[in-house]
Order: sequence, then C-alpha cells, then structure tokens
Amino acid sequence: MRTLILSDIHSNLTALEAVLEQAQGKYDRVICLGDIVGYGPDPNEVIQRVRGLEPVATVRGNHDKACCGITNAEDFNTVARAAASWTRQQLTPENLAYLRQLDVGPAPVDDFQIVHGSIRDEDEYVFTPREAGENLELAKVGLTFCGHTHFQGGFARREGGRLEVLRVRMEPGVAWAALELNPASRYLINPGSIGQPRDGDPRAGFGFYESEKRTVEYWRVPYDIEATQQRMRAAQLPEPLIHRLSHGR
Ligand code: ZN
Repeated sequence: MRTLILSDIHSNLTALEAVLEQAQGKYDRVICLGDIVGYGPDPNEVIQRVRGLEPVATVRGNHDKACCGITNAEDFNTVARAAASWTRQQLTPENLAYLRQLDVGPAPVDDFQIVHGSIRDEDEYVFTPREAGENLELAKVGLTFCGHTHFQGGFARREGGRLEVLRVRMEPGVAWAALELNPASRYLINPGSIGQPRDGDPRAGFGFYESEKRTVEYWRVPYDIEATQQRMRAAQLPEPLIHRLSHGR
C-alpha cells in the first residue's frame, strides 16, 4: 500500500497540481496533514481538489482553524492574519463548513498516525530533538506524520531513547530520497510543505509511505512559482508572503 502524504498546501493550487501530476500512478490513497488554506491565492480551488482526492484521513491546521473562525488568528503575525481574513472572505459556505469539521488529530491510520503540529498539541512546532523526544515518548505507534514547520525531514527516537535529526538535503536536480524505517525506532516524519516551503528549497515538498517495505520517500517538485505570485498580487495579499515563495524561506 502506497500512501501519498500532503501537507501545508496553503491555498497554492499551482504547487498542488504539480505534486499531483508527479505523484500520478504512484499511490493507492491519500492523507492530508492540514493547513490546506491560508497564505495563498486559491483557497476554494485547493479545498475542492483535496476533497476530490478523498483522503482516508485529514487533520486540521492552525490556518484552517483561523480561516474558518474556530480561532481568531490573534496569535498570528500581521501578514498571516491579513491572509487569514482575506481567505475567510473568499471561502464558500460549503468550504467553510468543510474546514470546521476537520479532525483535531492525532488521527490513526493502520500502523501509523497523523497530526498537524505534534502528538501532544496540534499547534506545537517541533523544531528541536528535545521537543521531538518528548512527543515520541507519548507515541503509541512507531510512526507519526506531522506538518506545521514546513521543514522536510523529521526525527527518529532510537532504542534506548537517543534522538536523531533526519535531514533531507536534495540537490536541485534530484527529485526524491528514501528512508528505510527501523522497526526498533519511533519516527516523527515531516513530508515538507507543498504551498510554502521554508527549508530553503522553493520546490513543493511531499512524501509517500510504502507500508509493506516500511519506507518513506521525500519528494520535491518544481512548479510555476510566478504564476502563484501573480494571483497573490492580483488578490493584494501581503508582499512578504509573495516574496518568500521564490526562496523557500
Ligand atoms: Zn502551515
């Protein structure tokens, strides 16, 4: 069974379409780790596209919550808040209702689980081995997929408790890298962000999980960044959000 893992799409339809084209024929089912909307110019189109994929599990992100009014975005910075309020005005009643009913997570799927931020808190950013270790200690399953930081990679907790940072650094021409999972380790795996990468690689990030081989694949795919930026300008979304897509920061 091959599972396509989508995360942090952030209303970027051009990036999502590039991912789906690259992934075509390579998966049996889809999971989605949240932040479907926020920041980007295509909230309704992206929600429709994700819904059409019929993911077996989807958890909500902090931007999904802010854009549908579950939270008031008061802990967001100015540009993120401006984008959230723009998104809220764009969303159709049906898509607002869809965002409001998304799962909190952790959501179990077969032998793994999915969360947006961390295992203990859907809004927690896991950046350090310490944060990862505290969460992996709580894990009831060996494999957890998370999003939220927009950094492709993750963490492994080895037998005995030693934490290892899983770094993915792909050269521009390289599309993917595989990670074989050790049955004695516990993992927190981030497939990267599709719509707003922040790990220095502007290409859209996503992943696959192959359950029989116990392998995770990290992927990067280029997309027409300028096309997304043009739609953001037309929507008068904040300039720093437009600019950062070029750099993946
Ligand atoms: Zn996000």
